[in-house]
Amino acid sequence: MNVDKKLVIIGGGPAGHSAASAAARRGISVTLIEREILGGAAHLLDCVPSKAMIATGGAMSFTDNLSGMGLENRTAEVDVEALTARIESIKSRLSNDVHALLQSQGVTVILGTARLASAHTVHVDAADGTTHVLEADDILISTGSRPRIPNFVIPDGDRILTTRDCYPPRSFPDSVTIIGSGVTGVEFAHMFASFGSKVTLVVSRQQVLPSKDPEVAAVLEDSFLSRGVRLFKGARATSVERTENGVRVVCDDGRVSETTHVVLAIGSLPNTEGLGLEEVGVVTDGGYIPINRHCQSNIEHIYAAGDVSGKLPLSSVAAMQGRKVAEQVVGGPKGPHRHLDYDKAASAIFTEPEIADVGLAEAEAFASGRKIRVTKVPFSTTAKALINNDSRGFVKIISDPATGEVLGGSIVGRHAAELISVIALAVTANLKVTDIEESLLVHPALAEALADAAE
Ligand SMILES: Cc1cc2nc3c(=O)[nH]c(=O)nc-3n(C[C@H](O)[C@H](O)[C@H](O)COP(=O)(O)OP(=O)(O)OC[C@H]3O[C@@H](n4cnc5c(N)ncnc54)[C@H](O)[C@@H]3O)c2cc1C
Repeated sequence: MNVDKKLVIIGGGPAGHSAASAAARRGISVTLIEREILGGAAHLLDCVPSKAMIATGGAMSFTDNLSGMGLENRTAEVDVEALTARIESIKSRLSNDVHALLQSQGVTVILGTARLASAHTVHVDAADGTTHVLEADDILISTGSRPRIPNFVIPDGDRILTTRDCYPPRSFPDSVTIIGSGVTGVEFAHMFASFGSKVTLVVSRQQVLPSKDPEVAAVLEDSFLSRGVRLFKGARATSVERTENGVRVVCDDGRVSETTHVVLAIGSLPNTEGLGLEEVGVVTDGGYIPINRHCQSNIEHIYAAGDVSGKLPLSSVAAMQGRKVAEQVVGGPKGPHRHLDYDKAASAIFTEPEIADVGLAEAEAFASGRKIRVTKVPFSTTAKALINNDSRGFVKIISDPATGEVLGGSIVGRHAAELISVIALAVTANLKVTDIEESLLVHPALAEALADAAE
């Protein structure tokens, strides 16, 4: 199939490369421009390296607690060089796989920096010193985001760090203050605690993960406290200064944290400067590009996907948006399809214990006055939790009391990020609790708690 259309994509992260692959499959002629590495910040700087470090930290905690499994306790030592090599090899493997796939599909990849020269042309300064002016029927902006830096501090890459300065891990800090207790902040707190750093977490609200179910956040807070993580709740950092041996963080309530390092984890900003958006007439809002449900900007043939769209900053969402763009470029979906529903995106937090949720949250339902049925089953009721020597956590399913439709759920505990897929599928496909309850699941498995919660 050749649809005789040219799509130019700026940015090769999950949004850009997924769109490129899906568009090439539909016979569109695709050129993708990437200024750093295919796979994007997701592979190079954020998602993949942080999860690789968390996996090693998790393995260390596991070996620290072997006696409960009938094994002699051993303490693991981290080999920073080996860990760095492992992260590099995962990154290059993933990036090479993306490159090979796009090449096999006939996508033209140019390494370089791109910007809009007009509504139908893209200017590229290629890494090899050449320049290109590409004509396009459609253009996708998928340039991602970068860490937000508060105005009272300048990161130095040495002791005052953004999340991206934390890898490759040259060494692990003796002590670290993490400013910000959203998903990234708590993951970094968990990661550094696993490697033995003394962690202080500055939590601006009264709970970590302010947008999450309070019951879920409470489990994580208890876990942090039991591991010696200090929580500065209800405190906002107002200054960060280098001292002789480290960094001093002062908060608005007078509390002070003195540690060897500080990590800033207070959100992100879109990479939209210098792209020529304003000149071409693409509307932005706080730097983000507002989009409709087909990922179109105010100019129909200029699309935005991924973090720049200001929707959910998740790799999974970015990739799905990219695929939707490809669909739209050929005139919209053919056959049965679903519009992207951001309220039904599953997400996970890779802490100890792991946390995952999807769909309607209990607090949200109460706030809107919607009647719901909530069932909660602890993992301790399953044989697998006892076998694993880890009974922490629970499954919570939220359903409509009248129809039995599954509206959402949250899971805290081992493999939560994998197990949430069952509830995510139910939410997306409008399944009922009986569909989960009547599934013949494996025994012994943590998933049995899902079936029990659906009863
Ligand atoms: C610490 C951390 C951990 C995370 N963990 C997870 C996780 O576990 N799960 C999850 O789903 N999400 C996670 N995320 C979020 C996830 O990384 C982002 O949502 C995802 O990377 C967004 O993909 P994207 O395609 O929009 O952008 P990116 O992955 O940022 O890719 C954009 C690409 O565009 C390129 N680019 C920018 N400007 C130009 C230009 N002018 N010309 C050419 N190329 C350009 C960049 O070099 C980059 O490669 C995490 C984020 C952080 C900060």
